[in-house]
Amino acid sequence: MEVAAGIHRIEGVRGANAYLVVGGEGAVVVDAGMPGNEGRIVGYAKGAGVEPGAIRYIVLTHPDIDHSGSVAKLKGLTGAKVAIHEADGPRLAGEKKLKEVKGAAGVLFGLASPFMRFTPVKPDVLLKDGDRVDGLLVIHTPGHTDGSICLYKEGEAIFVGDALRTGSGGEPLLPPGSMTADMQRAKESVKKIAGYRYEVLLPGHGPPITRDASKVMAGFAEKSA
Ligand SMILES: [Zn+2]
Repeated sequence: MEVAAGIHRIEGVRGANAYLVVGGEGAVVVDAGMPGNEGRIVGYAKGAGVEPGAIRYIVLTHPDIDHSGSVAKLKGLTGAKVAIHEADGPRLAGEKKLKEVKGAAGVLFGLASPFMRFTPVKPDVLLKDGDRVDGLLVIHTPGHTDGSICLYKEGEAIFVGDALRTGSGGEPLLPPGSMTADMQRAKESVKKIAGYRYEVLLPGHGPPITRDASKVMAGFAEKSA
């Protein structure tokens, strides 16, 4: 479904939200869901008039498996370059543990992870704050992971990954504590996100905020971060 001009939320992806951005030099996929979603992503793109070879980049907001699980196969189907922040690159490449999870959730996650068949991918592009990917500005927003990033389409939209999520009513919420490496940094990142101007906010989890999103975020940052 097209949620803003040239920005699609890819329907039916399991795990985190995955987005297709068209209108730059090529198309960009932002996050790729759990393992097994590559066919759905390519199928959706075709339906939107984007051939697999036109997808130039797959950008991961961070390497958690619900965002990165389909990346290896999606890269194979499209030939796209995989881009991730340099601080999270080693996790995606399998050089570091994919995720540290705290407390009881950590035990559960640890038990579940052998069944999740994560295929490591060596990133093609290591991103830094201020870089651009096909016109989208990279904003480093650490906290949920060290290398969490947002992608910003100036004045229009921001992709926030798991820097924050939205509830069923579209209200912003902080990322879950047990899954977040550093909550204090995560809150600072929420403030940073609230400092930009955009109409639409596209989270990794929950429905997008489609109107006056930067105003909504300013209010949220003031009371929660
Ligand atoms: Zn997630």
